[in-house]
Amino acid sequence: MTDKIGLNLPTYSYNAKHPALIIGAGLAGCAVAHALAKRGYRCTIVDQHATVAAATSAIPAAVIRPMITGNTLQAQLTNHAFDFCCNSLPKNIFIQCGLLQLVKTHAAAPLDKATMDMASLLCTDDASTVANTELESDAWHIKQAGWINPATLCNHWLDHPAIEYKPNAQVTALHQTEYGWQLLSNDLQVIDESSLVILANASDVKAFDQSRQLPISQIGGQIDYFRSSGSALRTIISSNRYIIPGTQRSDSQLIVSGATHHRDQAHSCVTAADTASNKLAAESLAPQLSLANNAELSFSGLRCATPDRLPMVGALPDTAQFLNDYRDLRHGRPATQYPAPPYHPGLYAAIGLGSRGATQAAYVGDLLAALISGDHAHASTLQSLQPSRFLIRQLRRGLAQAGPA
Ligand SMILES: Cc1cc2nc3c(=O)[nH]c(=O)nc-3n(C[C@H](O)[C@H](O)[C@H](O)COP(=O)(O)OP(=O)(O)OC[C@H]3O[C@@H](n4cnc5c(N)ncnc54)[C@H](O)[C@@H]3O)c2cc1C
Repeated sequence: MTDKIGLNLPTYSYNAKHPALIIGAGLAGCAVAHALAKRGYRCTIVDQHATVAAATSAIPAAVIRPMITGNTLQAQLTNHAFDFCCNSLPKNIFIQCGLLQLVKTHAAAPLDKATMDMASLLCTDDASTVANTELESDAWHIKQAGWINPATLCNHWLDHPAIEYKPNAQVTALHQTEYGWQLLSNDLQVIDESSLVILANASDVKAFDQSRQLPISQIGGQIDYFRSSGSALRTIISSNRYIIPGTQRSDSQLIVSGATHHRDQAHSCVTAADTASNKLAAESLAPQLSLANNAELSFSGLRCATPDRLPMVGALPDTAQFLNDYRDLRHGRPATQYPAPPYHPGLYAAIGLGSRGATQAAYVGDLLAALISGDHAHASTLQSLQPSRFLIRQLRRGLAQAGPA
């Protein structure tokens, strides 16, 4: 397939006796550890923090939902990932309270049967009854959608005899040896080493020479908890923003409103402007909730985003070698004339989960575990998610060049 030049999957596969080292104990890293452990691998997961889910995955509540409109690759991936969540996450962790997607215009209806099957269209009155609050438009009702507390899910995933958690270990560099990769600390001590290393440390992959070139950006965002004195909300209500009911189980009047988006943020911090924006958004979704003016709890974090908004899942390209081997890609030579794409042996990534990390993590973990264990059943999906896809696109456009030999 000419459109897949340079995206061939790595040909090496690992014996499950090889332990895997995973950097980053957020949703991505914990999902990969869990999926590899299920396939018989021993895993060590290393994080700079004392506890798991201490960075972006520290968000107290995240929505798990499909995309019911559009037939893009992003929608297909999200919907597979959503199905995967419905079939694999424990019911006491994935709280399937349902979601109402407000219909702004009926032109934005689901496009295919698969997505139609996930949602039913309710008139405004019926949608209001389901939500237990007055709504102002018709809505698609997605009964299986819901929310999770990511830290609870991460802890659940790591609760496996084949997984060891190594806290308070910041990896500052990766050093290649004859055997594999050493994870080095700031004072150049070897934290651990293995022939199989997975980078799941979101935007911080930029700290490593081998992954510095990956085109990722950070999108800041905030959610806020507001007390409602209206009737208790029963479902998630969503448009371009969302509100989630009763995520503090003892307190059903506390609703979450999210999330704001700020492109290219270097740091995250809670701001009054975002709290005000979340309050306005919540009031426009469900005007009868009667929210208190001040937020009782706020959380801000950084999403790690890719240019095409799909995660990066797969082997890490050896960029210098890639630029050399594929330097005349823009001239359109046949696929057979190119060597196999050069990857750093044993080095993989699961990053760039963006705004849908809670929905996508379990599926991403499963895809990467399949690739590593030599199961190419999902080859086509994995090719679409290869970290090298951006390099290929740049080479095709003549925008990337090999350095001096
Ligand atoms: C405001 C907001 C709202 C959101 N809402 C939703 C939602 O409703 N639904 C949804 O699906 N998604 C949502 N998301 C997205 C979701 O939260 C993220 O996609 C997901 O948490 C990312 O997980 P991760 O494991 O990739 O990154 P992280 O959780 O950031 O994990 C990376 C880990 O790597 C560790 N690390 C980094 N560098 C190093 C190093 N050098 N050495 C050791 N450890 C290191 C960090 O300590 C961290 O624990 C939201 C995000 C934000 C910010």
